[in-house]
Amino acid sequence: MSVLVFAETIKGKFKKATFEAVTYGRKLADALSTDCIALCLGDVTGAEDLGIYGASKILNVKDDALNHFDSQIYTSVIAQVAGQTSSDVIVLSHSANGKSLIGRLSVKMNAGSVSGVNALPNVDGSFSVSKGVFSGKAFATYEIITAQKVISLMGNSFGVQELGSAGTVETISADVPASRLTVTEVQVSEGTVPLPEAELVVSAGRGMKGPENWGIIEEMADILGATTACSRPVADSDWRPHHEHVGQTGIAIRPNLYIAIGISGAIQHLAGVNNSKVIVVINKDPEAPFFKAATYGIVGDLFDVVPRLNDALRKFKA
Ligand code: FAD
Repeated sequence: MSVLVFAETIKGKFKKATFEAVTYGRKLADALSTDCIALCLGDVTGAEDLGIYGASKILNVKDDALNHFDSQIYTSVIAQVAGQTSSDVIVLSHSANGKSLIGRLSVKMNAGSVSGVNALPNVDGSFSVSKGVFSGKAFATYEIITAQKVISLMGNSFGVQELGSAGTVETISADVPASRLTVTEVQVSEGTVPLPEAELVVSAGRGMKGPENWGIIEEMADILGATTACSRPVADSDWRPHHEHVGQTGIAIRPNLYIAIGISGAIQHLAGVNNSKVIVVINKDPEAPFFKAATYGIVGDLFDVVPRLNDALRKFKA
């Protein structure tokens, strides 16, 4: 029995969520007195570093077909490696790819699964794991009773820890089935941290009046080294790209700092951001619902407050 962590990459590079999943896998392996095996697929760089985050073994299946994510062939290969390594617990990141894999893997391996877990399972005689439900308003605990288990870890919920030193990567083989997909292009936005992994987020809503006013938001994000986000109507109106939309129907995030500017704080928006550690709200309406969820609030016109805040932040940084 061992814990197998799927070490997800984009264009061969590891994401922060992968290091978090490996840290989690190691802690879980320790609780089960077993090994934490990290599995990389395709050409990857820096796989040895997974040892630093707790992998006791690092495996790599190389094949050109694995250089781009393909849920069907990844499922097949991960399930094969789980069999080869007698791994009973598979840990995935709760990313778009992880969400696509978890159902397929569960069916393929006849495993019970829980997606979006946020803590280590209780392994004293059972395997019970908790996750947030009802848009983070409550926690539910699920017991997985099947021999094989698949879980996906919510990003920024567990943290990344350095638990060891760089390891040795062992290349292993597996049958890679023919893909039914042809990947023509992979687009990765360069420079900023992707929203699901961002620790600092500057977000704006309809109070901005129009896309032409976003310069002050981008300026603040630039000064702080933050990622930009927006409310749903903003993305629906094409003021901002859809991948910035956070909330119940957008991306759920849990950054250390979420700055909400000109956003009312509707329940559907809060559902995706209320796990942020610190929330700062800037709104001209003192009755805006967002203030109830705020750690700090500024009542004022954003077109006055944000440029002044940017000046102050710039001076503070200098
Ligand atoms: P508004 O509600 O128009 O609020 C604008 C705010 O800006 C107001 O509070 C106003 O006081 C303030 N403001 C205006 N001018 C200024 C100024 N000059 N200075 C300072 N403040 C100012 N929404 C999401 O965001 N994410 C979701 O995932 C999502 N999912 C949904 C799912 C469903 C099924 C439904 C029905 C709705 C969903 N919504 C979602 C929409 C949600 O209900 C709200 O309509 C939306 O969040 C409001 O966006 P907003 O706060 O940007 O705009």
